[in-house]
Amino acid sequence: MYTLGIDIGSTTSKCVILKDGEEIVAKSIQLGGLGTDGPSAALAELWNASEIKESDIARTTVTGYGRMKFEGGDDEASELTCHALGGRLVYPGLRTVIDIGGQDAKVISLSEDGRMSNFVMNDKCAAGTGRFLDVMANILKMDVNDFGSCAAASTEEIAISSTCTVFAESEVISQLANGVKREDLVAGICTSVAVRVAALARRAGVKELVCMSGGVAKNEAVRRALEKSLDVDIAFDPLAQYFGAIGAARYSYNKLIKQQR
Ligand code: ADP
Repeated sequence: MYTLGIDIGSTTSKCVILKDGEEIVAKSIQLGGLGTDGPSAALAELWNASEIKESDIARTTVTGYGRMKFEGGDDEASELTCHALGGRLVYPGLRTVIDIGGQDAKVISLSEDGRMSNFVMNDKCAAGTGRFLDVMANILKMDVNDFGSCAAASTEEIAISSTCTVFAESEVISQLANGVKREDLVAGICTSVAVRVAALARRAGVKELVCMSGGVAKNEAVRRALEKSLDVDIAFDPLAQYFGAIGAARYSYNKLIKQQR
């Protein structure tokens, strides 16, 4: 049985097909979330790349920031539910999910049996989200994908003191004018995001096993700084950006199984 999960974020659109609720058999990702052609491009990529046809899909769940506006799909489910379900599928003993996406950050606590027991979210301020990193990458004329490796070469991290993205932008511009090394600045920028998310995580409560989800999970400097700040190991899977879509496909599977009983 095949189920499809579609995660329409603020920055990217992701699709995942699960076989029997467990095995990822196809996936796709496209830049562009709500209000762009990202969702249709991600679906087109999915059907092009896989042997599975749309008619083979037993049920579809849509999640993410743009889920309400999407036409099609059988169910919609919150991002919290889907990141928890997706994370738990990859890590069966998972108790905490730290999701940092393009425009928000969430920390989700799970009970021992995998149910969501608490969450804390920042969707009001760009600091502590992928948006902050994207803005800084733009100023530095860098690709945000290179932040992790760039920060790894830092020898003297520059702390970013401004809590507001707009002020932090000016701070980075003046540090560049002062001639500081780009690696040190990038390391400070990544730590700044981690410190803000760590504060959210402490409010939610952090129990191990902890994993990251969302695109920013791919930034190793943010991951390491979060581990340091929270004093825990944080699991990372290369599919972290797909956890919402994986969870959505799993949500569909769970619904079908319930109906069959
Ligand atoms: P959303 O679901 O809100 O659209 P995502 O979870 O897809 O967001 O995350 C998008 C963010 O992930 C981007 O803003 C970017 O900062 C970050 N990102 C994506 N890919 C990478 C990468 N390879 N390395 C570092 N950061 C990345």
